[in-house]
Amino acid sequence: RARQGNHDVLFYSSEMNRRSLERIKLETDLRFALDRREFELHYQPQYDVRTQRIVGAEALIRWRHREKGLISPGLFIPFAEETGLIVQIGDWVLQQGLRQLATWRAQGLHLPRLAINVSGLQLRSGFADSLLAHLAQWQVPPQQLELEMTETILMRDNERMTQMLAALSESGLRFALDDFGTGYSNLSYLQHFQIDLLKIDRTFVQGLPDNSRDVALVRSMVQIAQNLGLGVIAEGVETAAQAEFLTDLGCNLIQGYYYHPALPAEQLTELLIAQQGG
Ligand code: C2E
Ligand code: CA
Ligand code: CA
Ligand code: CA
Repeated sequence: RARQGNHDVLFYSSEMNRRSLERIKLETDLRFALDRREFELHYQPQYDVRTQRIVGAEALIRWRHREKGLISPGLFIPFAEETGLIVQIGDWVLQQGLRQLATWRAQGLHLPRLAINVSGLQLRSGFADSLLAHLAQWQVPPQQLELEMTETILMRDNERMTQMLAALSESGLRFALDDFGTGYSNLSYLQHFQIDLLKIDRTFVQGLPDNSRDVALVRSMVQIAQNLGLGVIAEGVETAAQAEFLTDLGCNLIQGYYYHPALPAEQLTELLIAQQGG
């Protein structure tokens, strides 16, 4: 028995070893991924349920690894944040998204709003200036860009960041509160930041329409948005029943597999053409 146990331990540790080696290799590769142009931006459309029209899209990064294929951001963004690589990656995401908006405009297509995920580390001094410079370079009006930020970022009490975000909001940029409801029970940041849109996290949407606790929570979130005069969007909507239930609650902006997953740019182009020409 003892022997067997030892064997397990040995096996386990070599397995862990293999995994951490793999992790180290991925981490090394990540440092070169930008230079090797291995990142792709995919776009998940956001729908207005009432009009059944695309009113925006969220840009979601993917990593096309030479050996491992398409790697989802959950596997490398945390490491990019730990190492600070997220600053350069985030800047690439922003530029790529704006370049795509310019391409669509040149094709006579219009995506009303592009949402981009922003990590806390990116919000260093200089962020606002470089963002506004990129917007000008690609001739994208600030109103067309939405920055998605989590509660965790906004809970950091940082005067300079608050002022920077206020200035960006002043110039027309939109702000969405990502993963709403997952971070803090304290909503004080809603007093200090000018948020335009609350984004109800997928974990709350999953239980709709049967889980009464999720129903109560989502109803409260929609009410908070309405009471504060903010927009509200639900992410992770997978079924018609969820879409219908959310609409009845007053949340008519929806993003999820029920409509589409994140799509390569060409596929969103097709949808925009169909919507515009149809
Ligand atoms: P998130 O911002 O909460 O993004 C939503 C995630 O839910 C995306 O996963 C999306 O593909 C997925 N999703 C959308 N609809 C459904 C659905 O109906 N069902 C299910 N099960 N999932 C759905 P993804 O693309 O793997 O991204 C994971 C996370 O990685 C994002 O979570 C975001 O935090 C981060 N991320 C992605 N792109 C970027 C980026 O460019 N910059 C930064 N800083 N973070 C990013
Ligand atoms: Ca997001
Ligand atoms: Ca604003
Ligand atoms: Ca989320």
